[in-house]
Parts: sequence; structure tokens; C-alpha cells
Amino acid sequence: MSDKILIFDTTLRDGEQVPGASLTRVEKLEIAKQLERLNVDVIEAGFPISSPGDLESVKEISKALKKPIIAGLARAVKKDIEACAEGVKPAKHPRIHTFIGTSDIHVKFITNTTREEVLRRSIEAVKLARNLCPDVEYSAMDATRTDFDYLCKIVEETIRAGASTINIPDSVGYSEPGEYGNLIKRLMNTVPNVNKAIIAVHCHNDLGLATANSLAAIQAGARQIECTINGLGERAGNASLEEIVMTLKVRKDIYKIDTNIKTEEIYKTSKMVTRFTGIPVQVNKAIVGQNAFSHASGIHQDAILKNDSTFGIMTPKSIGIIGHEIVLTARSGKHALKHRLEELGFKFSDSEILELYGKFLEIADKKKEVFDDDLMALMESVGKKGTEAIYHLDYIYVATGNKMVPTATVRIKVKGKDEQAAAIGDGPVDAAYNAVNEILGEKDVKLLDYQIRSVTSGKEAMGEVSVRIRKGGTEVNGRGISTDVIEASVKAYLDALSKIERAKKVKI
Ligand code: MN
Repeated sequence: MSDKILIFDTTLRDGEQVPGASLTRVEKLEIAKQLERLNVDVIEAGFPISSPGDLESVKEISKALKKPIIAGLARAVKKDIEACAEGVKPAKHPRIHTFIGTSDIHVKFITNTTREEVLRRSIEAVKLARNLCPDVEYSAMDATRTDFDYLCKIVEETIRAGASTINIPDSVGYSEPGEYGNLIKRLMNTVPNVNKAIIAVHCHNDLGLATANSLAAIQAGARQIECTINGLGERAGNASLEEIVMTLKVRKDIYKIDTNIKTEEIYKTSKMVTRFTGIPVQVNKAIVGQNAFSHASGIHQDAILKNDSTFGIMTPKSIGIIGHEIVLTARSGKHALKHRLEELGFKFSDSEILELYGKFLEIADKKKEVFDDDLMALMESVGKKGTEAIYHLDYIYVATGNKMVPTATVRIKVKGKDEQAAAIGDGPVDAAYNAVNEILGEKDVKLLDYQIRSVTSGKEAMGEVSVRIRKGGTEVNGRGISTDVIEASVKAYLDALSKIERAKKVKI
């Protein structure tokens, strides 16, 4: 049994299956590199058979990363396993992760066959995968609703066939901690060759129990935890990496086992995943939510000032939130700015910093104190999100009022060329969006969701707008940030349209 908890991150596979999350190849690679810095043990990079784009992306990540194991997902069928093997082949440490549903309901309605046949296919899939790759993981999908004796048989036989990691997922998020811990414990006590493999768990959060279930499994002997950044994933999401890792760290007195995670990289990774997927983190989310470390009650504030530990159980610094001590102002120099941006994960040359410094001073003049969120907003406003936007907002003029028809004039840069249009609408945002549609000749874009919130503090706070749009069959999220909410709205819309445009190019 491993003396560490192995962290298997599936943000790029399960997390990416969230509607609207669709990441481009460049974004996936950037996230994978950040996951390597976070020091996860395994990165599930994709599901190679699902699309040629996904296969390419898994290959790219396999080539670029040296440290973690790169896994690809494959159903227990030949063509999936072969595509997966091709995808992870360039990796220094490749893994094929193959799965099949083992509960009666999956056997009957998904595979349309018998338990005996599922067992046979599982063994065959693992053997085939082992011929193509030395490291094979097998998942008994819907394990928590699988007959126990049958599950033991499956685990025993797939280990014998060559799987070195066996995953017992709670695919439907139905289990609860006592029951799940007990399942893992019974399994470990029953399967005769169980010590030849690492037992993994993959929990979903349908009842809000994914983290608790994963921790119960650890106490019962599971040694690989499958999870995602910000708890992204199908439906209510997966177990959240940051919650599991920080619980093991903060409550080491109980769990007595470590992970390899560099916790100081958690916040940066969370921010990057939010930026690229466009899916915001709820403000009260454990560990990475905006309010996770803010103390609103006067009594608590007073106590915290006297001693950190009065109400804080971990420091913001431990997850990489920095800059609480030093405040950037208009008097801060270029070096201070560069240093802080580096801490936030951005690297710039001296000449780039010079250019950014001017923009930084504009904000500093308005706001007096510049916080990390202001800098993140600045990075987004200059298009430093890791990928370049295709459409840039150049100019916007909006006239609106209670007794007039809202009118907007918008000019955007499309491939370096200025294009302009004016339009009316039901409100100023609608008018501006109509003008954008006019310029780009868009007729069938549907706005599914529009949200606005303030991201930084004070009267001059930056407003952040998140939109979700659908065009054809593609759904994407877009975000825009500005001190002006109409401008932020147009930026969010252009960000989403740029994503759709990029997705077109990426899909082969
Ligand atoms: Mn899943």
C-alpha cells in the first residue's frame, strides 16, 4: 500500500464534460502544466476516442509533461483502448484507464448483456491495455450499486489480468461516508490479491458528500483519489481536489497521511481553471471561494487581529493567496508589479511590464489600493488569459435612458481590421449585443445566461460579467471585466464568441 495518497486529477476529462466548459487545446495544455506545478500524481488528460481533437490534446499533453502519469480514458472496447494507447504513447509515464458498468442496471440497460459477459470483457480489456501500456487502471463503473460478491470477483480477475490500479467509483453520487468506507474496507478484506493493486475512488457530489466519501475511503485503505479543481464535473461535480488535500493537511492528526501536492499552487490553479472554463466558483466554496478566508463578524475580526488561530484553521498563504501584507499603490514600482504578477502565475518581459505598468497606474490612481483581483482583472482586460481573443472591443458608445430607445455603437477589431455598427435594443446591453451581431453577421446566437457581479472592493470596483451562449450545437461561457458594466458585458460576449470561433478551428 502506498504511504502517500495519490492525487489523480480529472479536471481535463470529467471536469471538461460540464456543459459550456469546453476548453481549447491551448487552454488544456496550460492547465495540464499548472497541474504539474501543483504536483498531482496523475492527470487524466482526456477521452481520446471521443473526438480527434481530444486525441490530439492528450498527445500534446503527453509530449509536454515529464513528471506526472498521463492517463487517458477508454471504454472496455478495442477501438477505445487503441485510441487511448496512441494518445498517451508519447508520455514518459503513460496510463490507460479502462472502464465498464458493473451494476445490474448498467449491465442490463447500457451494455445489454450479462454479468458473465461484463466480467469477460473487463478481463479482455485489461489484457489488451496491458499489451499496449505497462500501467493500466480499471474502473468498475457504478461500483456502489454493484452486487458485492460480483464486484469482488471483478476486482480479483482484473488485478490478475494486469491492472495495477482498481477504481471503485461512486459514479452516481449515491453513497454516504459510513457505507462507502465500509464497502472499501470489506473489499480490501475479501479480495485475495488486493495488495497487488492500488484501490482508487472517484466520488460525485450529487448529495454534497463527494469529499466526505473520499475521506472515508482513505480511512478504509484507498490510496488514489480522483478529483477535480473547484469540484468541477458531471452534474453536481466531482470531489474537489483542494478540499481533500487541505483536509488531509489540516487534520493530519486524524488521517496521518500526506499527498505530494504543493498546496501553495492551489489558488493559482483554481483561478486558472475558472478563467479558462468561464465557470465561476461559488463565493462560499470551501478553500477557494472568495469568502473562504474573510471574516465578516466584528467579534471574529477583532479576535483574528489578536491571533490568527482564533478563528482561522489554515492560512491563506498555505494555498497560495498572497499579497495580504503588502498593498500595491500608485507609488509601487515596476519591480513590485512584476513580482506580484509572477506570484499570480504570469510571466512578462521587462518591456511588457513597462507597457502594463501604465495600465496599472491608471487603476492605482482611481482605486488607491490595487488588490490581486484587480490585477487578475487587468490581465484579462489586456487579453492575457493564456489564449488570445479573436475579437477585441475597440470602442463603445451607448445612449440610454428611461424615455429613449437604447442605442449602441460598437467598434471591434476582427483579425486586425476595425469593424463598426450601431443598433438599438431593449436595454443598453441588448443594443450593444445587437451591434456586435450586426458586425459579425451573427443571426443564431442564443444568450442562455447573463450574470453580473463586483469582483473587487470599493466604489471603483471592477464589474465581472459571465455569459453563456449557444450557437449551433456548441455552448460556451464567456467572461468580461471592466469598471464599466456595459463594457464588461460586451467583452464577455466577445470572449464567448471567440471561444466558439476557436472551437471551430480546433475540431478536426
Ligand atoms: Mn465521473
